[in-house]
Amino acid sequence: MADRRDIDNAREKIDDTPTIACSRCDREWDLAYELDELHAGNGALEQFALDHRQHTGHFPDDVTPWLAECRRCPDHEAFLSERPARRWAETHARHTRHRVVLQHASIDEPLTVEPTK
Ligand SMILES: [Zn+2]
Ligand SMILES: [Zn+2]
Repeated sequence: MADRRDIDNAREKIDDTPTIACSRCDREWDLAYELDELHAGNGALEQFALDHRQHTGHFPDDVTPWLAECRRCPDHEAFLSERPARRWAETHARHTRHRVVLQHASIDEPLTVEPTK
């Protein structure tokens, strides 16, 4: 009978599960749940960040969200990239005729999305 233990050992050594920290929660997580249970793959970090915000109201460390804020309603949404943030702003403006402001750490001036006529 072949001894398969060396193979298992080799597998255990591959410990590249990414981790993410949140200083507000004073905790660190690995993303095994996102990878194994949610099959989030490359989006594991984003999935974690969005879930973290949904359940705690804030993003974990090293995540700078795009914020889309309506000037008229108390409505605001946070996104991890520009595209969905812009899409939210444009659809909100389209349906409500409200002006929406987009903000992100990478831009100096907030972007304003005007409702289309
Ligand atoms: Zn947190
Ligand atoms: Zn609005």
